[in-house]
Amino acid sequence: MEDVRKGGISVETEHIFPIIKKWLYSDKDIFLREIVSNACDAVTKLRRLSSLGQVELNDDYRITVKADKEAGTITVSDNGIGMTEEELDKYLCQIALSGALDFIKKYEGEDAAANGIIGHFGLGFYSSFMVSDTVTVETKSYTDAPAVRWVCGENGEYVMEPSHKTTRGTDVVMHVAAGEEEYLNDSRLRGILEQYCSFMPVEIYYEGAGPEAAATEEGKEPEAPKPVNDVTPLWTKNPSDCTEEEYLTFYQKVFHDYREPLFYIHINADYPLNFKGILYFPRITNEYESLEGQVKLYYNQVFVADNIKEVIPEFLLMLRGVVDCPELPLNVSRSYLQNSGYVSKMSQHIVKKVADKLNALFNTEREKYEALWPDIKIFAEYGCLRDKKFYDRVKGSLLYPLTNGKTVTLDEYLEAAKETHENTVYYATDKAAQAQYIAMLEAEGIELAYLDKGLDNQFISMVEQDRSIKFLRVDAGVADALKGDGEGYESQELVDLFQKVSGHDKLTVRFETLKDATLPAILTVSEEQRRFGEMMKLYGMGGDMPAPEGELVLNAGCDTIRRLAEKPDEAAAKYLYMLALIGQRQLTADELRDFLAASYEVLGKLV
Ligand code: ADP
Repeated sequence: MEDVRKGGISVETEHIFPIIKKWLYSDKDIFLREIVSNACDAVTKLRRLSSLGQVELNDDYRITVKADKEAGTITVSDNGIGMTEEELDKYLCQIALSGALDFIKKYEGEDAAANGIIGHFGLGFYSSFMVSDTVTVETKSYTDAPAVRWVCGENGEYVMEPSHKTTRGTDVVMHVAAGEEEYLNDSRLRGILEQYCSFMPVEIYYEGAGPEAAATEEGKEPEAPKPVNDVTPLWTKNPSDCTEEEYLTFYQKVFHDYREPLFYIHINADYPLNFKGILYFPRITNEYESLEGQVKLYYNQVFVADNIKEVIPEFLLMLRGVVDCPELPLNVSRSYLQNSGYVSKMSQHIVKKVADKLNALFNTEREKYEALWPDIKIFAEYGCLRDKKFYDRVKGSLLYPLTNGKTVTLDEYLEAAKETHENTVYYATDKAAQAQYIAMLEAEGIELAYLDKGLDNQFISMVEQDRSIKFLRVDAGVADALKGDGEGYESQELVDLFQKVSGHDKLTVRFETLKDATLPAILTVSEEQRRFGEMMKLYGMGGDMPAPEGELVLNAGCDTIRRLAEKPDEAAAKYLYMLALIGQRQLTADELRDFLAASYEVLGKLV
């Protein structure tokens, strides 16, 4: 090219620059990703030609990002395929521009953040004008074509002329606009590179604006500069080639969390879905810690966006990790992701992988799995409630801790319970408050599940339906195993007496012969009634509803009861009733006062 050619980007586009400049204010950082990923593409294209034997090359591919504070420029250089004059005209002045225009037309006037446009892919080369007033491109094609220089101002007017560039590749020099000087700072640029370019497939070297990297000690060889990125991130590798340690290091590096994750899943789907990723279950030690994880979405190793809730099912939101999917369109919006069939298939695939992982841990590393269970439990049970398919997949691997310290599956529990209480799971929710009932059942060799927090009511209701079994809390009734044989016994007088002293004239009083002859009376509350009350409370309804009264079971096999029937005594009956109440739950302040009064009265009679 001999002479200088001037041009203007067409009339239609005269407004594009101001729009680009103002627009997506919060996301200006992406300009660097766009320019660096173009450089990556240029290298990738050349690599491909070289591997096809169409060009012969033996140099190292690299991209350099350089800031020059004095000149006020950021330069991204690559030694990729380069462009001829015709190519530059076609790709930058026509194709790139119309691409940017399409993108802007699509979203013009919209608040990108509010509309959930994520990633802002598609703006491409012209996003450089978000931070620059002039952009210079110097490029030399891998062919023999002469080098060319293109200088474009923020009004869209450009100049194309011969360039002195002698090496193959492209330099994009962005002249940082007034007001955007922050982008000349090392830490700012490094931060952006780290966020967007950490895993791009071509080595990227950063040459700061400040004094050259820390002075090297005398006599020592200066360290070879290191690329800022990892060109073959772990998720691109075959899972069988990755070590535990690599997974851990990757996690720490990406999430800056130095606690070991509970476990991880490496997904490598290639057909019919095409995405890769590694998902980690973080260890959440602090209950106030946000449960919100972080899953980063990549497009062929180029960072697109953080926190892709749309791809991760709600119950797995605490997951952290990376998902790289080349199938999603480049400029994607959240509403697109929400409605995309492809995304929902990805999400289902992730759920399946999580279920497979739990089953694998259960089957091959039971001990470790049991140790992790307290941390996994909430999400696993919640997942089961939210997603029936997930439940069906993992139900054999769900664990139930027992009051005796063991941890079993439901099948194991039911198998052990066959003789004594078929199809029934007894459980406790509070070891202290329910100590008496727990001791009674354990004395009969009955194992008790220990469901001490979380979603248990909803979860067990679902399991009950699915398995046609019954969960009964220890105080829900008198287990058959606790019943002794003895003649039936009734005393209307005692019934009346207890109704009176309890203050509930409708209190149900029942006689039963218990094996433990030392125990005069216990209170039971029907499982349904109690669960219903708890549910109302959970939803903030029936706050003033009194606790279910339950049923007073008097032990006909206990001498104290028989004697009381012969010689009714109000103080003793009151005292017995209060004891039964204490055995069942914590007393209210009023009840406690009552109890003390009843105790003193009984003591007075004894002494
Ligand atoms: P996209 O990268 O999505 O195609 P861009 O607007 O970013 O859109 O770039 C338009 C085109 O300009 C690219 O497709 C490529 O052909 C050309 N181009 C941009 N940067 C470079 C570069 N560093 N080296 C070679 N060609 C480039």
